[in-house]
Amino acid sequence: HLERIAEVDGDVHAFLHVGADEALAAAARVDDAIAAGETPPSPLAGVPIALKDVFTTTDAPTTVGSRILEGWVPPYDAAVTERLRAAGLPILGKTNMDEFAMGSSTENSAYGPTHNPWDLDRIPGGSGGGSAAALAAFEAPLAIGTDTGGSVRQPAAVTATVGVKPTYGTVSRYGLVACASSLDQAGPCARTVLDTAALHQVIAGHDPRDSTSVNSPVPDLVGAAQQGAAQDLSGVRVGVVTELQGDGYQPGVVESFSAAVRTLADRGAEIVDVSCPHFPYALGAYYLILPSEVSSNLARFDAMRYGLRVGDDGRHSAEEVMALTREQGLGAEVKRRIMIGTYALSSGYYDAYYGQAQKVRTLIARDFDAAFENVDVLVSPTTPTTAFPLGEKVDDPLAMYLFDLCTLPTNLAGTCAMSVPSQLSATDGLPVGLQIMAPALADDRLYRIGAAYE
Ligand code: GLN
Repeated sequence: HLERIAEVDGDVHAFLHVGADEALAAAARVDDAIAAGETPPSPLAGVPIALKDVFTTTDAPTTVGSRILEGWVPPYDAAVTERLRAAGLPILGKTNMDEFAMGSSTENSAYGPTHNPWDLDRIPGGSGGGSAAALAAFEAPLAIGTDTGGSVRQPAAVTATVGVKPTYGTVSRYGLVACASSLDQAGPCARTVLDTAALHQVIAGHDPRDSTSVNSPVPDLVGAAQQGAAQDLSGVRVGVVTELQGDGYQPGVVESFSAAVRTLADRGAEIVDVSCPHFPYALGAYYLILPSEVSSNLARFDAMRYGLRVGDDGRHSAEEVMALTREQGLGAEVKRRIMIGTYALSSGYYDAYYGQAQKVRTLIARDFDAAFENVDVLVSPTTPTTAFPLGEKVDDPLAMYLFDLCTLPTNLAGTCAMSVPSQLSATDGLPVGLQIMAPALADDRLYRIGAAYE
């Protein structure tokens, strides 16, 4: 994999940092343990992995795609990093991402965009485009992303890889640099459903250091994927979300999605239409709640505690140093969201914007609750279109936000979802993703149905 990275990453730019020596040393430790007759620490011991640059690592810089953290080497490992190391997975390096995980194309990275291996002139999705591109370009067999509004599933969809957003609270956020704390969730990425399940099993579990960590047993995800591989879905009820189709969906995506639904029916699933009337308001609610949390979380980047410090020359006040550092260290999209969030939380507007958005969030969660009384899972396309050309939406934030239409409801409700490759678009030959959504703590259903479809 290190050779493959050296060969193709100049074109793909999936990695911000490659830790060859550290990865080889970790692999050697697994080899030595096996040679000494010890049991490897996990079924994935020795399988290399790419880690999104939003997780802290003591042996590599953690930039979160931002200039403000350029060169910062954290003093502690994230819970996910710790679990990967303990399970014996050598970390190949840190992958590129939209700055602070804000974006849908990886073009907001301060270090330049990642290119989609299917067509180097197109976006790899975002914010975790680096992790998905590393998989699609065969630079890594496994990767980790984070999904605040779709950043695992959407890059998976446009690169024909698999990505899962686990139930909120089931993978620790300790050491995951925060974007929006009530939405952020780490997730596994791979090229097959079974590989994704095995990785999910390694990273999930209770952690008292994360105050929102859920203390409940992790379901048998690998077992569910193995059960699904038998391709028998009799007795399973699948709901097609009527609100996640229609205008704005490319014909090639619609066709691929319809074919996927037919396949699920062929494998024995009962298909029903399900209305989730508040899903169309997810975009508006998300783009108020997320910036509100961002405006608070990113206040810690004050030029005093970490990373960049501009103007510290004895001629500027502390306030001026903070302002100069944030002016130079943060990109346009991050500043835009800090301003929107600050406005939405201000005393005169709190009820009208943030308060209202939280009510909509509750209504979306209730749509899921009502749907799951009648069906085991819901399905939709993961994205309304295939990968668009680099540069096409970069100056049009609203057009960029629309690419998240299908993935946002899951994050707002705290439930779980997977994107699994469906047939290539007949319009442009590019990958399309099938999104499978399940209730909170029923992540095993994603693997059973994903593996049965795959
Ligand atoms: N595209 C969404 C956003 O820009 C989702 C990002 C994410 O999941 N990190 O906020």
